[in-house]
This record gives sequence, C-alpha cells and structure tokens, in this order.
Amino acid sequence: MKTQVKALVVGGGAVGTGIAYHLGKAGWDVLLLERDELTSGSTWHAAGLLPLFNMSYATSHIHDYSVKFYKGLEAETGLNPGFAVVGNLRMAQTQARMDEYMLYAATAETVGIPHEWLTPAQIRDRYPLVRTEDLKGAILHPTDGYINPADVTQAMAKGARQHGVAIERKWQVDAYAWQGDHWAVTVTKMADRGGNLVPTDEQQVIRAEHVVTATGNHAQRTAQLLGIKIPAIPVEHQYIVTEPDPALVQWRKDNPEHPVLRDADAKWYVREERGGWILGPYEQGAPARFKYAVPESFRADLFPLDLERIEEEYMSMIHRIPTSETVGLKDDYNGPICYTPDGNPLVGPAPGLRNMWLAEGFSFGITAAGGTGYYLAQMMTEGEAEIDMASLDPRRYGSWMTTEYAATKNEECYAHVFILHHPDEERAACRPLRTAPAYDRQKALGAQFGQVNGWERPNYYGPLDAPDNFDHDARSFRRGGWWDHARAEAEAVRSTAGLIDATAFAKHRVSGPGATAFLDWFTTNTLPRMGRINLTYALTGAGTTRTEYTILRTGEDDYTLISAGAWHAYDQDFLTKAIEDTEPRFGRITLQDTTTQTGVFALAGPRARDILKALIRDPDPETALSNKRFPWLATREIELGMCPLRAVRVAYTGALGWELHHPIEMQTYLWDQLMAVGAAHGLKPVGARAQNWLRQEKSYRAFGTELGRDATPLEAGLDRFVDLSKDFHGKAAMVETGIRSRCVTLLIDGPDDADPWGREALYAGDTRVGRLTSGGYSVAFGKSIAMGYVTPDHAAPGTKLKVRMFNALWDAEVTEDSPFDPQNATIRADG
Ligand SMILES: Cc1cc2nc3c(=O)[nH]c(=O)nc-3n(C[C@H](O)[C@H](O)[C@H](O)COP(=O)(O)OP(=O)(O)OC[C@H]3O[C@@H](n4cnc5c(N)ncnc54)[C@H](O)[C@@H]3O)c2cc1C
Repeated sequence: MKTQVKALVVGGGAVGTGIAYHLGKAGWDVLLLERDELTSGSTWHAAGLLPLFNMSYATSHIHDYSVKFYKGLEAETGLNPGFAVVGNLRMAQTQARMDEYMLYAATAETVGIPHEWLTPAQIRDRYPLVRTEDLKGAILHPTDGYINPADVTQAMAKGARQHGVAIERKWQVDAYAWQGDHWAVTVTKMADRGGNLVPTDEQQVIRAEHVVTATGNHAQRTAQLLGIKIPAIPVEHQYIVTEPDPALVQWRKDNPEHPVLRDADAKWYVREERGGWILGPYEQGAPARFKYAVPESFRADLFPLDLERIEEEYMSMIHRIPTSETVGLKDDYNGPICYTPDGNPLVGPAPGLRNMWLAEGFSFGITAAGGTGYYLAQMMTEGEAEIDMASLDPRRYGSWMTTEYAATKNEECYAHVFILHHPDEERAACRPLRTAPAYDRQKALGAQFGQVNGWERPNYYGPLDAPDNFDHDARSFRRGGWWDHARAEAEAVRSTAGLIDATAFAKHRVSGPGATAFLDWFTTNTLPRMGRINLTYALTGAGTTRTEYTILRTGEDDYTLISAGAWHAYDQDFLTKAIEDTEPRFGRITLQDTTTQTGVFALAGPRARDILKALIRDPDPETALSNKRFPWLATREIELGMCPLRAVRVAYTGALGWELHHPIEMQTYLWDQLMAVGAAHGLKPVGARAQNWLRQEKSYRAFGTELGRDATPLEAGLDRFVDLSKDFHGKAAMVETGIRSRCVTLLIDGPDDADPWGREALYAGDTRVGRLTSGGYSVAFGKSIAMGYVTPDHAAPGTKLKVRMFNALWDAEVTEDSPFDPQNATIRADG
C-alpha cells in the first residue's frame, strides 16, 4: 500500500469515490481507504433517486453536474451505472405547492435545468394509473431519474483507478496527527471474523499532504479523531418494495416506465421496481441514530421496519395509485441516512485544521457524489470552486453547536423534506437557544423571531396578541401574513425611527504591532483613520469576495471587524488562519472574539439623532452628535444614560443612524431607555425583513446573496471600497478575472400579491441574462425591488429586462445604484 500521497480520501461510499475520481482526474496522487467494502455504508441501500429539485443554488449546480457526469460514466469506464432517465414528476395537491414549484422552477432556470408543467388532465392522460382528481398540477423534470448506487460507485471507482487513484479496502483510519505540512494518518488493517469486521494488529502510517473525510454514518467518530464538531448525525429512513402490481405490468407492455412520482403533500416518492412499486416516505418521528458513533458491530446492517410509522404515507400511496392496494410487500429497508441541521451537507475545509477537508452529512449522497467530487476537487486543487460553496461550508456552524442540538435539528430536517419550503420559513426545533437579553422585551412587543446561527433575531413585529402559530400561518410564497407588519416597520425607518437588534453580528478585535500592516494586506479598502470606519472586503485567492467587514479603527493598531452573524465561525476560521500564516511577515497580532460580549442595536431614521440627544451624557449634548463632532462613518465612545457604549454612525437601512455597540449585560437597560425616549419620536422596533427591503433601496450588497465566492468586489460594483493603489490579498486574481457579470438593482412591476425572493431568472427578450440574488418590496417606490447579477451589457441604468415570477415574465428596470437618496442626503443630515 502507498504510504505517501498528495491526498488521502477516507471512505469508499458514493461520496468518497466521487471525490477520489475528480482529484485523480485533476492529476493528484490519491489513495482512497475504505474500512470494509466499497458501498458498504449507506450507499448500498440507497434507492438511487437523483432529484434535481432543490431550492439552493449551489446544491442545484452540484446535482446538475452529477446527473450529467453519470450519463458519461459508461463510455469512460465500460461500467454501466444503471442510470434510468425516467424523469421525475412532482405532483401538487394545493396552490401553495404549485407556488413552491414555480419558485423552484425559477431557481432551476438560473442553473439551466429543464422542466415541463402538466395539468391534472395531462397527468391522467400520460399516467392513467395515477389518481388526479385532487391534484392541482405537476412539474416534470425530464432529465432526472434513478441510478444503481452500487454500480455508479463502482463505475466512479474504476474511473478513479484509470486516473491513477489507488483504492485499498479493509483499512480503517484510526488517528490523524498534523505534522506542520502534512498529516500522519494511522490506519489499521481490518479482517472479517465470524461475520464481524475486526481490527488486526497490522498498522501503517500514511503521510498525506491533504485528507478528505467522507465517512458517512461514521462522521461522529471522525469528529472525535479530529477533535472538532461535525453536526452530521444519521436519522432512520425506510422504503418498502411491493410485489408486482398486475395493472402496472399490463400497462408497461405498451408504455415506458413511469417517472419517479412524488406526492410532496403526502410526503413520499414512488418509483417502479420490477413490476412493483418502491415507496419512500419522509414521515414524522424518524429517530436520530448513532449520536456519538456507529457501534463497532454495525456494518451494512439495517434497522427493523417500522410500518406503523409510515402507515399514513402507505395509505396515501394507495389513494394515489389505487392498483397498489392489492399488492403485497416484498421487501423493506430501514437504514441510517445522514443529515445536518439545515439539510445541506458539509463540504469544504474543516474548522481550525489545515489541509483537512470534510465531505460529510449527505442525505442525497448518491445525487450529490459526482458534483461534490467535482467542486471539492476544484477547491482543493485550484483554491476555489467555480460556484460559491459557502452554503455547504462546514464552518457555517459555530462551537455553540451540541450533539443534542444537531440530532434534534436533523430529525426535524428529515421530517421537513416534503414540508412546503417557504423562503420565509422558520423551523421550531431547539428554540429559543441563543437569546440576547432584550429577547423577552422584544417578544412582549410582538416580535416574531428568526434563527441566525442559533441566535434569535426579530424578523418582524406581529400583533401583540398573536397566537402561537401566527408566524407559521403567515408564511407564503407570495406576500405572507407578515408583509404588512414589515411594510409599516420600513415606513417608520423612512419617516420617523426604527430600532433594530443586530446583536448577532460577528465581532473580532484585531490589535497589536502587526495589526495595521496585516489588515492593510488582508482587506481591499484603505484602512480608516483613527475614530473612523470603512466598509472593506477580504478576498479569496481567486480574487472573489470571502468576507465583508465593517472595520472600526479605535487605536493606532486597534481595530474591530464586524461581519455577518450567520458566518461567525466561517469568518473566524479564515481570519485566524490568515493571521497565523502571516505573523512572521507582519508581526504580533492579537485576535479577540467579542461577539457574545457585545450587543448591537441599530437606531435608524430621521428622528434617530433626536432620540440619542435626549439620552447622551456629554458636556454639550446639543453638538455631540452633529456632523462636526460625529460625522458619518465615524465611531465614538459615548454614554447613553448609564450605558457606556461605542456608537458607529452608519445605517444599513440608508437612513440617518447609529449602531450602538454596548456591553451585553446592559442591553435591557439600553433597550428600555431608547424605547421610552423614542416613544415621543415615533420609534418602532423593526425586524430583519424590513431591514432587508430597505438596504436594497440603497443597493447595499448583502453577504451570502450579492457577495460571495463567485464574484469579485468589482463585479459586485464595489469599486469605491477597493483601493487599487495598494497591494492586497487576492488583488492580482481579482484584476485578472475582469468583469464577467455585474451586480445591479432593479425596480419591478410584478404581481400585486408577491415580491421576488431573490432566486428568479432575468431575461432580455428570450435570452436569460442573469439572476436575482435578493428581492423584496420598496416602500420608497411602492413596488417590488431586487438585486442580482446580469451580463455586463445589460447592467446600464435604464435597461429594461423581464423577471420570471410564477411562470410569467414581469417588467424590471435596472436602476442607478442606490435608487433611494443617491446623494446620501438623509444619511449625512446635520443636526
Ligand atoms: C433507505 C435509504 C434510501 C436512500 N435513498 C437515496 C436516494 O434515493 N438518493 C440519494 O441521493 N440518496 C439516498 N439515500 C442517502 C444515501 O444513501 C447517502 O446520502 C449516501 O450513500 C452517502 O454516501 P457517503 O459516501 O457519504 O456515505 P457512506 O455510503 O455511508 O460511505 C461512507 C464510507 O466510509 C467508510 N468509513 C467510515 N469511517 C471510516 C474510517 N475511519 N476509515 C475507513 N473507512 C471509513 C464506511 O465504511 C463507508 O463505506 C438513501 C439513504 C437511505 C438510508
């Protein structure tokens, strides 16, 4: 066996094999180790469906790549992966479900995935065994279907070997030790003894520059070996196979195979299997398993069938396909299927470790294996993938995450596979968990919370006497029951004042003799002068946006970096590693995470200054907040009543405003003061939804939507925050990339009852020229607003485009940047 390689891949399921294939194809020297046999993990019992349907842009790309890749595997390897391109028919029982499909279709269009719409009558004509009278319609994906999971894995393994990858079975990884420039990986030879897989005395140490773990249900053991947290914990998933259905056998004599049938409202998929049916339900109550590790005795085993748990779904299959009622059960499978709290796998660098890559937590691992291999190999061999993989990044979860949280959220995620995926959905499990002190006060004012990285953050303030299910019932693919509340909040910010809780922001203090030189190199903008702030960007090696920071300079070598709350661990890992890597060059730097010590309120609106004036303790309160003493983009330490805090004159809503960074233990005191004084000035507590609309009126890009690793800050139109006269990390690559597309703001004459969500395709005539990344409603313009990326020739203000919403094309016009108050007169107002 090889003992020295460029990359070691651990795990010979579909995912590990797909990664080994693509690393080998990229020319790397690769060894794949599997403790048992290839496909002996979850891969062997997967149903093999390849659903393209996905609400996530990155995952849609991954699934799309896989489907195309699998189609070419036989020609490349001579092995048939058993791909049946039968299509996938998603049926809808309700209008809301049709709305969901239309939103999905909009995302699919941005990736180029084909689809077709069917009426109930068309479904009946094509598939007479399917009962249709209670359906509203369906969406058909002609290009997907199902594959044989073992065969596709073996085909990828053969392809990998053709690319020089060595594959060794019956070797288990038992220890990892980082040696400064490579991993020393201790592996143990495994042997079959009496039906059990047991370790032998034979061990080796492999020297690998990079390691990828794709250990499926063993992720918790991998986490323990690496000393990190990996919130991938399996949940039970079952499917049953019926005896041949005579009606189906008869029908198939003259007809092609049914597409995979999905009755999402009934929470199941069904496909044909040797004249019978496979029913795969996503029922309530499926338990998490192996919370701390898979027992040694568990190999390719299954759990006992729990028919009672899936009775409802079984009955609904019989309702939908009446001929299935009389056929008996032939087979059943109940196996572990890995989940993560948000349902996306964990693909990318392991938190805190060097050259360690995770590919864990796959619930659609057969579908994702090819695309994961392709994009992860790009990240490893080229530094970046061509799509933004942040939504899959293992560092999206912080150290606050526990096993109980992950297991409970994973169970919830499983049960939600077929629940309507409203873009405004907030899931209930494990909440509230991370609450700022003002939480109870906000709740008492009607706050309906969303969860950001575990934090509770008001999305909007609903009625004071709202029933518990208010937010649940307020969800919609159109303007939901929360819309009027958000609109009133946005109007308050434009006309009086709003108080927004931004405590979840990630905050990192960077100080010490090396801090200034380091940050000058690390970020794109000129560093602020003392007492000032800037917006700035840290780039990837490919010159695209890795992180957006508001940077405060509070001392000669003392800075605070504020970034998106959802990306705390992701940002921290990047910053920590960059400091470690460059300390010899720039000198000593201290990094301090102050996120949970500091609360943040944003006070915004024309009356913001009046409210603060009433509270500020200063020798001259009248001038303390004037443009002279406290100009826009400045930061000062001030006292509001008895609360000492750092105020920052900036407002993400584009209004006159200050962010108030305060000691967390004084938060309720500060909240009470602001609300009491604000009452006379029309102050309204405001949630994240209104804020999201308002920032689009100012064309303020948001991290995770407009800003990410697939566009440079120049493509994002942020030239004024990029100082080309200095040298900074990623600059050469950014310049070399040029402008592939441009970020624009659009005003939209859309439907009366809906705004775009930021996933829709943009057209010039019949040509798709871009996609939206954000969407909402503009109170300033009284119509829908959105941001997105278009080809450079369609980015000029005044360009007329069309946006696809609910299967129709609606007029959209590219505006100037910052359509509301382009001169920033409101923000700069003196007083
Ligand atoms: C009933 C059921 C039906 C499913 N149907 C579908 C479907 O239709 N479509 C779909 O896309 N997905 C489906 N899935 C999910 C799919 O099975 C998984 O997502 C996929 O198999 C995950 O592949 P993997 O390579 O990540 O993990 P696995 O297949 O579990 O592979 C991990 C491998 O790593 C090895 N390993 C672990 N630790 C070590 C170590 N320390 N050293 C060496 N080797 C190690 C294990 O032995 C194992 O072989 C289904 C799952 C279930 C349970």
